[in-house]
Amino acid sequence: MDLDLDAATLEFRDEVRDWLAEHVPTTPLPPMDSDEGFPLHREWEHTLAEARLSTVTWPREFGGRDASLLQWVVFEDEYYAAGAPARVSANGIALLGSTLFAFGTDEQRARLLPRMARADDIWAQAWSEPEAGSDLAAVRSRAVRTDGGWLLSGQKTWSSRASHADRAFGLFRSDPEAQRHHGLTYVMFDLRADGVTVRPIRQLDGVTGFAEIFLDEVFVPDEDVIGAPGEGWRVAMTTASNERGLTLRSPGRFVAAAERLVDLWRERPSTEAADRVVDAWLGARAYRLYTLATISRLADGGTLGAESSVNKLFWSELDVALHETALDLLGTDGELAGPWQSGYLFSLAGPIYAGTNEIQRNVVAERLLGLPRGSR
Ligand SMILES: Cc1cc2nc3c(=O)[nH]c(=O)nc-3n(C[C@H](O)[C@H](O)[C@H](O)COP(=O)(O)OP(=O)(O)OC[C@H]3O[C@@H](n4cnc5c(N)ncnc54)[C@H](O)[C@@H]3O)c2cc1C
Repeated sequence: MDLDLDAATLEFRDEVRDWLAEHVPTTPLPPMDSDEGFPLHREWEHTLAEARLSTVTWPREFGGRDASLLQWVVFEDEYYAAGAPARVSANGIALLGSTLFAFGTDEQRARLLPRMARADDIWAQAWSEPEAGSDLAAVRSRAVRTDGGWLLSGQKTWSSRASHADRAFGLFRSDPEAQRHHGLTYVMFDLRADGVTVRPIRQLDGVTGFAEIFLDEVFVPDEDVIGAPGEGWRVAMTTASNERGLTLRSPGRFVAAAERLVDLWRERPSTEAADRVVDAWLGARAYRLYTLATISRLADGGTLGAESSVNKLFWSELDVALHETALDLLGTDGELAGPWQSGYLFSLAGPIYAGTNEIQRNVVAERLLGLPRGSR
């Protein structure tokens, strides 16, 4: 890959930079998972979408601008450098969107993607269950065949954004007789449909980022199944590879945080922390190069595959180390509520969500290094 940006990409970068300078709110929005912050973040997504900046790589017919993946990396660099609001539509755009491109029908793409790009629908991921987290194939929520569709019943948990979101996508057991990884179906449903109860889970900071979702014979039409019934595991693995391997956490997020860490170190120099500041800065740059290598691999016809797990391990551990270093530089001031403290608390979740790091290490050991399978 040529690391020098071509003229079109430079022009795109300048346009994005200027647009963000003009539009990013000067006062940070309240947290996106708060009652107050959610609608403001949705409004921000509408503003982004009007400029065709909410989903830059998508085709124009769905609200994007056909940008290359390299241009997406550049967009994200600019987005985070500008301190723009957190993306309340990320579950849709980064996870479900890529899944619909791989497995959706033309009708589903035409119906769902433009609404997702404009944040008319904000999506939640309803995968985890009380007894199915790392072991996702253990899901027990059911999809039972009925006239023209399916009836969903069961319980989902830890669903980010579900307390405020409009719709959700999840895995349901449609054939209880089939082997664990078979007999699962990938279904989208309305969070306000009859039979759905959403119970928010209040977090340490008081916001309700998570929710439990209870489903009691919730009807979904056949049009809201992604992929073939019974093929849900294969579809879900596409979502998971995208989540871990590329779309959820762009390098821009870490490069911008590392730059802020360097600024903090300049304000509060510490010989003891210098090496860790440098490590974080280099780690963010290395992650950017690794992402560019992933993009090259995809451009050559490669797939995300098990390398996604390496990616996820790297960014989640980098994020924790970076924030720990910032709090050390802040000393007792770090205990005061502020962006570094809230960033630190959220970074601690990185090794858990999108599949825990222990599980990613198992994937790396077995699928990339060819080590024998551990006992389960
Ligand atoms: C911030 C955040 C956001 C989330 N958002 C969502 C969401 O939007 N939608 C959703 O569906 N879920 C979401 N989750 C849930 C997340 O996917 C699960 O928490 C995660 O998959 C782990 O599942 P669990 O909590 O059931 O833990 P468990 O699976 O019970 O694991 C407990 C511990 O055992 C370890 N462990 C389990 N099995 C193995 C093994 N085979 N080898 C080695 N170690 C093992 C795990 O690594 C972990 O440390 C979110 C979680 C967090 C923290």
